Amino acid sequence: MKVLVINCGSSSLKYQLIDSETEKALAVGLCERIGIDGRLNHTPAGGEKVVIESDMPDHEVAIRMVIDALVNKDYGVIGDLKEIDAVGHRLVHGGEKFTSSVIIDDEVIAGVEEVSPLAPLHNPANLIGVRACQNIMPGVPNVGVFDTAFHQTMEPVAFMYGLPYEYYEKYKVRRYGFHGTSHSYVSKRALELLSLNPDNSKIIVCHLGNGSSISAIKNGKVIDTSMGMTPMEGLVMGTRCGDIDPTIVEYLAHTLDKSLEDVMTILNKESGVYGLSGGVSSDFRDLDAASNEGNEKAKLAVEVFSYRAAKYIGAYIAALDGVDAIVFTAGLGENNIVVRDQIISHFGYMGIELDKEANQIRGEERVISTLDSKVTVVVIPTNEELAIARETVALVQG
Ligand code: ADP
Repeated sequence: MKVLVINCGSSSLKYQLIDSETEKALAVGLCERIGIDGRLNHTPAGGEKVVIESDMPDHEVAIRMVIDALVNKDYGVIGDLKEIDAVGHRLVHGGEKFTSSVIIDDEVIAGVEEVSPLAPLHNPANLIGVRACQNIMPGVPNVGVFDTAFHQTMEPVAFMYGLPYEYYEKYKVRRYGFHGTSHSYVSKRALELLSLNPDNSKIIVCHLGNGSSISAIKNGKVIDTSMGMTPMEGLVMGTRCGDIDPTIVEYLAHTLDKSLEDVMTILNKESGVYGLSGGVSSDFRDLDAASNEGNEKAKLAVEVFSYRAAKYIGAYIAALDGVDAIVFTAGLGENNIVVRDQIISHFGYMGIELDKEANQIRGEERVISTLDSKVTVVVIPTNEELAIARETVALVQG
């Protein structure tokens, strides 16, 4: 089967056309600046990237351009639109309603709309992509794969906040967790790679990218994860603050004479390692370069990031009552040697030790702990698009 995987944001749309037999992407691309002007970056497998600048007033026009690119004589990869057998959509928030992937029908769309207040920036944008595909490719099944679904196995002891219970009952205020597709894909691969018993396994997955989260997975089920009701909670991220004392919100609003919305924008877009470094960058490559040139704030930002991650791992070792494997994935987890080294250096007392040479890798699957290490530490590249394509095929083939 050929599956078009779509990750639709408010002004951008990422796509991959995946051949489910070979599990390879036939083409990957990105529509940017939808509703502003419009640019399509399209790369056929093994070919050169093509950039097409053209007006993209809305997502339907964007998806039509994607399809035109996919069937183009020079840089296309299929002969006809009919070769697309199914579309898999990344949907951000499934609330408590969706505990697994689903074939999208009117009822599912209504359900996603119902939980939209929990992700007002993401869910409506995701649904625009779904509707556009329904219009352009009538009869082609659309599957929704939720970021939150894999974490729905968490028990109340892990997902409840210390708030009045009625806010959970009335308004669904609780922890949900995100990046579920990645945590699921990578933890399953770890079971295979390390020949662990799926029914007797304790894995901690560190998905470290621009947005970062860590999860504790026991016997294939998430028992805790660091993101909460929204992706703001937990680790220090590229531009998000992660865990802070909530009183800071009130204090900043008063002190800076700013609205709640303005303070939330600061916590979302101007904080994290970007804010900590005094605005050097949210990208760790820039932070590493600045640290090497003696920038103390950039150095501190990276250390704060690693320290917070180590604290979560420590907490999850307690939650799991042990750990068989610690997995690093996503942009930073796969590529950043310094961060992996800093994080694992906190676990010497437990006999967890990195093989410094093995740790010199970027973007490849490899065990990076020593043979004597009490716990295996491994890098496993994530592939959320492939995970979405697999879920799509499984549901469509039923
Ligand atoms: P997103 O959450 O946007 O998907 P990514 O998973 O792409 O983010 O992660 C982005 C982070 O990964 C950046 O901080 C970047 O510095 C880091 N990163 C990506 N590639 C490399 C690399 N080759 N070397 C070091 N760091 C990298």
